Amino acid sequence: MAEIGEPAWRSRQLSEAIYHQHLTKTSEITTLSKTLRRKLTDEGWEVGRPEIVQVFRSTDGTERYLVQGGDGLTVETVWMPEGDEGETDDGGDAEANDDEAVRHQRATLCVSSQVGCPTNCAFCLTAKLGFQRDLTAGEIAGQVVAVLDRHGVEVGRDRVNLVFMGMGEPFLNYDNFMAAVRLLVREVGLSAQRMTVSTSGIVPGIERFAQELAEFRPRLAISLNAPNDELRSELMPINRKWPIAAVVDAARQVRLRPHERITFEYVLLGGVNDRVEDAAQVARLLRKTGLPVKVNLITWNSGPGIGYSQPQPEAVEAFRQRLVDAEIPAYVRNSRGRDIYAACGQLKRTVEG
Ligand code: SAH
Repeated sequence: MAEIGEPAWRSRQLSEAIYHQHLTKTSEITTLSKTLRRKLTDEGWEVGRPEIVQVFRSTDGTERYLVQGGDGLTVETVWMPEGDEGETDDGGDAEANDDEAVRHQRATLCVSSQVGCPTNCAFCLTAKLGFQRDLTAGEIAGQVVAVLDRHGVEVGRDRVNLVFMGMGEPFLNYDNFMAAVRLLVREVGLSAQRMTVSTSGIVPGIERFAQELAEFRPRLAISLNAPNDELRSELMPINRKWPIAAVVDAARQVRLRPHERITFEYVLLGGVNDRVEDAAQVARLLRKTGLPVKVNLITWNSGPGIGYSQPQPEAVEAFRQRLVDAEIPAYVRNSRGRDIYAACGQLKRTVEG
């Protein structure tokens, strides 16, 4: 508004229209005069929203969306009803024993931050797309708004967790990612404590993140995926730039909330990083950090053209048990929506499956 010579307070009218009246076109915003709407359009400003152009529905209730931005490029967003089995361990869920409670929704929304991804992890399907472009703050927040509207979610009544674990590396699009978080907190009314951002270990990003105000700081998850630098560099080329110790040092700068833990994600690849010795090494590494941590184990999800295999169920359990024996909380995350290519590492803007 300021840029087109209007008083800055008019931006409130805009955010009211977009985030509270749920309007999706400049022409619909009747709180602004016709003249002003025309002026906005003439000067090249467009009020819009990323559009859900395709929906894939899994047998487990998960929905995967192709969401399209203004330039026609699409990213993927995933809706997991009933949550994703505990990303946010907030406990104390009210018993669903009255009619009112039954209507409350509980879900986890997995949000993308870039079109494609530049980090090129060997086991991830999104990597095959390469990097196309960053999403804007509006496109990141817009995915959330579009999906919440689709499901008639009422923020405050329904419990929705956000995980920034879709396509892309949020900390390589830091400013837009954080601007989106602020929009979602201030305008949509979501709590940053119910958001988790996952990074492959972008050290300058983690350092900036550590400086954010608690009100606007999601929880932090780090994709570890290997017990040592040698294997991690093989699986995640980004490790050559920022090895494990540098990532951990940066993570140490985050001032955690009471009871908050840093999550380490670990994709189990059959015969590659899933031995009990690997678990023991992970346990040593994490204990040495002195940080409050937990580990989310993800069994590898397949994708065309990626030469890994799923771990044996016994190996997964033995791995988890070894961590728990070392007093590291470890959980096996059940993959949702594998049948529609909506699970971790499967987002690739295709119609496969
Ligand atoms: N770029 C960020 C955000 C994506 S989060 C990051 O790497 O953390 C996606 C998570 O899924 C990461 O933990 C990643 O390691 C994991 N992942 C990638 N490919 C996978 C696959 N094929 N199966 C299971 N998990 C996978």
